Amino acid sequence: MRDPRYDVLFEPVKIGPVTARNRFYQAPHCNGMGRTFPSSMAAMRGVKAEGGWAVISTEQIDIHPTSDITPGTEGRLWSDKDIPYLARMCDAVHEHGSLASIEPVHNGKWAANLYSREVPLFPTHMPNSDGNYPLQARAMNKADIRAYRRWHLDAVKRAKRAGFDIICCYAGHNLSLAGMFMLNRYNFRTDEYGGSLENRVRLFREIIEDTKDAVGDSMGVAVRFSVDELRGPEGLEADKEGREIVEMLAELPDLWDVNVSDWENDSQTSRFAEEGYQEPFIDFVKKVTSKPVVAVGRYTSPDRMVSIVNKGIVDMIGAARPSIADPFLPKKIEEGRIEDIRECIGCNICVAWNNMKAPMRCTQNPTSGEEWRRGWHPERIAARADDGAVLIVGAGPAGLEAALAAGRRGHDVILAEAGDELGGRVTRESQLPGLAAWARVRDYRSYQISQMANVEVYKSSELDAAQILDYGIAHVAIATGAHWRRDPYGRQHQFPIPGTDNVNLLTPDDIMAGALPTSNVLIYDDDHYYMGSVIAEQLVADGFEVTLVTPASTVASWTSHTLEQQRIQARLIELDVKIITSHELKAVSADQVTLGCIYSGKLHHLEVASIVMVGSRLPQDKVYQQLLKDEELVRESGIKTLKVIGDCHGPATIAAAVYEGHRFARELGETVADIPFERELTELATTFGLP
Ligand code: ADP
Ligand code: SF4
Repeated sequence: MRDPRYDVLFEPVKIGPVTARNRFYQAPHCNGMGRTFPSSMAAMRGVKAEGGWAVISTEQIDIHPTSDITPGTEGRLWSDKDIPYLARMCDAVHEHGSLASIEPVHNGKWAANLYSREVPLFPTHMPNSDGNYPLQARAMNKADIRAYRRWHLDAVKRAKRAGFDIICCYAGHNLSLAGMFMLNRYNFRTDEYGGSLENRVRLFREIIEDTKDAVGDSMGVAVRFSVDELRGPEGLEADKEGREIVEMLAELPDLWDVNVSDWENDSQTSRFAEEGYQEPFIDFVKKVTSKPVVAVGRYTSPDRMVSIVNKGIVDMIGAARPSIADPFLPKKIEEGRIEDIRECIGCNICVAWNNMKAPMRCTQNPTSGEEWRRGWHPERIAARADDGAVLIVGAGPAGLEAALAAGRRGHDVILAEAGDELGGRVTRESQLPGLAAWARVRDYRSYQISQMANVEVYKSSELDAAQILDYGIAHVAIATGAHWRRDPYGRQHQFPIPGTDNVNLLTPDDIMAGALPTSNVLIYDDDHYYMGSVIAEQLVADGFEVTLVTPASTVASWTSHTLEQQRIQARLIELDVKIITSHELKAVSADQVTLGCIYSGKLHHLEVASIVMVGSRLPQDKVYQQLLKDEELVRESGIKTLKVIGDCHGPATIAAAVYEGHRFARELGETVADIPFERELTELATTFGLP
């Protein structure tokens, strides 16, 4: 039963003519599926409605060929042709009694129009800003502005026909033309759309008014607005024009969805921001408007949610990532199952996959993106297909998830872990600076397993191949992880380096195990994700002088996908880490390294006492290889399934390890096709279109 403390979260909220059944609002979020994998997108949204989110929003939906963000996969509403897939999402949301909200957008200069080949539009002449493409946006004339209002209105009318309940007028994240008009640094117009703040806000006001006039009697009209850009006087500030804009439009929309801009600031990772990090910027909004206010902030704690409602900061709890990590978060609070919440760890793997134009993946929720194509539900799993017991060797993220999911299917499960702690790499890495929240991957699973009578966990139990054969258990998963290589094989540099055999090189595993370098240390980061930079932070905290060398042109270059790259580089600069980019290790001796410029080959020498190699990892698969060697013995032992999963299979992200663990359990005893999921294929047009 629900704890009465949380009753307030289940009060209905009126949004103009429609009513949300509770205070849980799934804010718009990209997902890498959008219009490219529309059935997947619709099923993903539907599952969240089932999980209790009262409002389910689309991602941004671009409204016209002049706002074409190809190769992005976000939703699109250019014509009636786009209505059916959005209607499918509405149906999926309505099936569970939630409201469907849509966020139509024109991306202005952010859209390069690579598919449509239109010239981008903007308040004034300005280079296009997404993708570094050699093209510019042109200044809109009055006819363009009238056309833009018409496109927005057409999208609104089509959205209504698709079945949406709420229209979200968007001026956020530096992604929306109407928002771009508001900014002093962009808008040099001398007509009634430029100059004074009132003039700069005019277009957004018109968009909201057009929408209200057209559909305001039957649909809620929300506004999504970024009140601060976190760039000081160069941009909007919450205590200056950000606030004035909310004051000017205060009572016009039916709901205010407020945040900070850009997306890098709105979706900060747990490495850089705590739950509720946006509150100091948005807490004025409710004092300025009588309309309901929603804000995000990676909220996963129901107590914190209650507190921000009771304190009058928000009326609705906005969430993108927490709703991805646990689509059933509201239901779990409602049913008094707080400890079952799968809390977002704030890693932005979901964001990264979207940014790479692939369907989003989630570290905590392995079913994310698999709802339609594999029929995976975040809370339900088929009963076991046979009564064979399951042995899982290794309790990192892969092993823990495999044990949990196989246990939920009803198998008797033994989970054997060599160490005296569960969690594998997650336990080790969560000790590093800024990564504490990652321990949630272990904590959620180890708690769930501890509640299951059919899952037995054995710590300090390193198994070898002979013991595994002796057990004679039907289904075996080897989840023994991976270790960092000591030799110099990384993402860019994939051949030997003279001298590395004769020098005591450290690895991230050594540092995590407590090893310390001697005096000044060079970190060679050819991994390009987070590890090199967190090791640098750790060693600075331990008092070392640190130099970070990478063949990439920026520190932690892959983290541009997780929206962290700039913050990581800034942090290392603040910590006085000496950064050398675009250089690779050429040779190593006891007290010196030779670095080579990756472009010119020019050599430099550096005196360093220690080197930490952050290159790549090797599977810890000795046990698996031994078992593979003797198929006969394996068969005779009674083992029917022998699978290697997680980092031991292929070292990758924690999300990949959790997914592999989950997949192992889902597929136990099942027949799996060569292509193990449904595909969405584009339907061919009836003609070739040639004259
Ligand atoms: P993954 O990310 O694939 O889950 P991890 O490296 O996080 O991999 O976890 C692997 C776990 O397996 C570690 O906790 C490690 O101690 C454990 N392990 C490794 N070899 C054995 C073994 N032979 N028997 C039991 N546990 C093992
Ligand atoms: Fe949260 Fe990471 Fe999942 Fe995204 S991928 S929802 S940040 S746990």
